[in-house]
Amino acid sequence: METKVEMNKVVSVHYTGAYTDGEIFDTSEGRDPLSFLVGHGQMISGFEQEMLGAEVGEKRSFTLTPDKAYGMRDESAIQKVPRDQFPEGMQIEPGMVLGAQSDRGPVQFSVVSIDGDEVTVDFNHQMAGMTLRFSVEVVGVREATRDELAHGHAHGPGGFEH
Ligand code: ZN
Repeated sequence: METKVEMNKVVSVHYTGAYTDGEIFDTSEGRDPLSFLVGHGQMISGFEQEMLGAEVGEKRSFTLTPDKAYGMRDESAIQKVPRDQFPEGMQIEPGMVLGAQSDRGPVQFSVVSIDGDEVTVDFNHQMAGMTLRFSVEVVGVREATRDELAHGHAHGPGGFEH
């Protein structure tokens, strides 16, 4: 029987994620379940650890501290960038989330403040430093295909379609 959450299995779950104050930041309710390949960095590490060994139909609730979720905030990831590094005519406002290319691929950052010709930006993940609560129900577990193992992610509904 292959009905438990284990390394290299493709797992489908319904989940709800909330902040510690109870505000929900993401849920699969009303959508297809989320599918992921266990052990390939598709999910935050704590999420997989908490779900290992769970069987189809099982529900688990757990709280992840930042080190098991999106990491601690790194103050050195807050940087000042000259205004002229942004495209000409682009409206920049505090709170905006923007994308950029870096030598390590695409990155996201948020605009913290604008002081004249200087823009303060924050490259921390928006959920860095946060403790997160999850409620998860396992709705399916199956063997990964060779392609999925090679790509490091789940294919099909709830996963990558390509
Ligand atoms: Zn793929």
